[in-house]
Amino acid sequence: MSFIFEVAIPVPLNQTFDYLCDQIVAVGTRIKVPFGRKIVVGVVLAIKDKSDFEKLKSVTEILDDTPILDTPMLKFLRWSANYYHHPIGEVIATALPKNLRIGKPAIIKKIIGLPLKTSEPDFQPSDEQQHAIHQIQTHLDIYHGFLLHGVTGSGKTEVYLRIAQTVLNQGKQVLVLVPEIGLTPQMVSRFEARLSTCIVSIHSQRNETQKLDAYLMAKNGTAGVVLGTRSALFAPMPNLGLIIIDEEHDTSFKQQSSFRYSARDLCFVRAQQANIPVVLGTATPSLEMLKQVMDKKITRLKLTKRASGALLPKVSLIDMRTETGNALSALLIGKMQQHLKNNKQVMLFINRRGYAPVYFCTECDWKAQCNHCDAGMIYHRHINRLKCHHCGDEQMPQQACPDCGKHTLEVLGYGTERLEETLSSHFPNTPIIRIDRDTTRRKKAFEQHLEQINSGNPCLIVGTQMLAKGHDFSNLAMVGVLDIDGGLLSNNFRGTEYLAQLLIQVSGRAGRSGEQGEVAIQTRYPEHPIFNFVLSNRYTQFAAILLKQRTQAMMPPFSQQALLCANAKNQQMAENFLRDAANLLKRIQIEGVEIWGPVANSTFKKADYYYFNLYLQSNNRKALHQMLSTFNQHTNTLKLKNKVRWYLDINPIE
Ligand code: ADP
Ligand code: ZN
Ligand code: ZN
Repeated sequence: MSFIFEVAIPVPLNQTFDYLCDQIVAVGTRIKVPFGRKIVVGVVLAIKDKSDFEKLKSVTEILDDTPILDTPMLKFLRWSANYYHHPIGEVIATALPKNLRIGKPAIIKKIIGLPLKTSEPDFQPSDEQQHAIHQIQTHLDIYHGFLLHGVTGSGKTEVYLRIAQTVLNQGKQVLVLVPEIGLTPQMVSRFEARLSTCIVSIHSQRNETQKLDAYLMAKNGTAGVVLGTRSALFAPMPNLGLIIIDEEHDTSFKQQSSFRYSARDLCFVRAQQANIPVVLGTATPSLEMLKQVMDKKITRLKLTKRASGALLPKVSLIDMRTETGNALSALLIGKMQQHLKNNKQVMLFINRRGYAPVYFCTECDWKAQCNHCDAGMIYHRHINRLKCHHCGDEQMPQQACPDCGKHTLEVLGYGTERLEETLSSHFPNTPIIRIDRDTTRRKKAFEQHLEQINSGNPCLIVGTQMLAKGHDFSNLAMVGVLDIDGGLLSNNFRGTEYLAQLLIQVSGRAGRSGEQGEVAIQTRYPEHPIFNFVLSNRYTQFAAILLKQRTQAMMPPFSQQALLCANAKNQQMAENFLRDAANLLKRIQIEGVEIWGPVANSTFKKADYYYFNLYLQSNNRKALHQMLSTFNQHTNTLKLKNKVRWYLDINPIE
């Protein structure tokens, strides 16, 4: 007797595939099947009586005795595939660790994350913390969303730890999501020091064996806490009792390739399906979450004071139109000297790595451009190369100008590398720690830098975005912010929201224990309205203004957006594909969905491909999704479908 399996296979096709098998298995089991000329790993989604296809091929091998995905997880993944209009096979592939995806056995190699010796803190929660803990604890058996809106250093982690402990005491598991860079080790050690349970972590610094072990320990229930970046959202946890997302506003929760999901948004779905609370912590809530609060869909819990009793830092502006000095104003240098003299640490934030962002000719204005992207080349001094930060292409810097032939080529502007060099000439006797993607490429390098900072010795820290988030450096007295003017002029409608979040987050690193810290922001636009709010730490009021603007313009979060992006080496083809797509969409008769475009992407050419966007927007989520489903069923009528690369992005953020 033969059975028919409906199987999900990781291919970019909106369909499942039927196979024959002479043996029955449970839904969620991995199997090997022939696909084209290859043998691939698929997951059984259903057992069927009959198939719409003839001449079915047979299953080659059954890989699991017990299903790798249980019914609730499959339900969650199906929901996700449906919402993001993404093939279920690729969604499942995203959810599985690589070793399971390629068919390796589901066996734990080495038990990891065993409980360490724990200790209790030497303080009691503040009234505000206690209130938050109490509110969440009275909702542990039902679905409910909480926005833990606490200023930087207000002890949000302490709240997470206490509710996690309660959930663990009930014999349930806790899932903790943190942003992509750097915060995981810090968070893991804080959890390990407090919670006497097995804690496994899933993030990019883990190797594939460790990721598989963590996954399987979550699945068999031995891991009490799973802590990880975005993809940890898909960890199987049969007794899941609580989801925590730290730094909810962080854009790294959105995956920007293949299956473009938002881990933050999907957390709500997972929590709803498991009927458990979800806690989102941040000092700078996204407008999306603030809207949820306004609509009374989630509850806001506030922590308005720093836990250590420290005041929020004093923020001031340095007007670069009147200041002398190139990257570093004399005023900023003076302030830095002051803090270093007091044996404190100072951090400078500049969101660009490399030596200098521009390599140009002073005679004719020629500029080094990437041959493959419409972007300038960034000069990197230690390797003496020009590098493209979009496609990674490298060139030797020219000696003479390719246009006018003169030897008048110079660098312009500052990146972390040049800033480090300039600082060492101003502060020859102070250690300088530079943290960016170039200095932390080596495994563990980031952790070593952090250790050095945490030793508390006076030093200068130069860093990018990687340093803006969550870190708790106790001896850091001052933060200087350089070169953020680009963000003020951004053409992304979320630009000012992101900039306000960034400025408040970076500022929040200063003066976290003891004396009040200081923040100095260098800008040529001191009259920009954003500073009124950033200087006085009134993020919420600024967000309220942005929300008002978004309502008036009917922009997200007051409407739903989807992006259809096409790219091809042939510019015309990419644009024509979107024109055809727009025509197809317009023929689908659904009211209330606006279609704009195609328009060229803000970075038009990347790695030789030309990018075009088509935007869909509606204030009716259902209508938008209906239109997209219908569109997806008819994409075979688009004749350029296989000639261009294209994807759909639901709630795009770029
Ligand atoms: P956040 O996550 O909100 O930025 P943290 O959780 O990192 O803040 O807390 C900042 C510091 O304050 C930590 O060193 C933490 O141990 C300490 N802390 C937290 N709660 C209290 C409290 N109630 N009393 C004293 N110190 C506290
Ligand atoms: Zn020239
Ligand atoms: Zn390039």
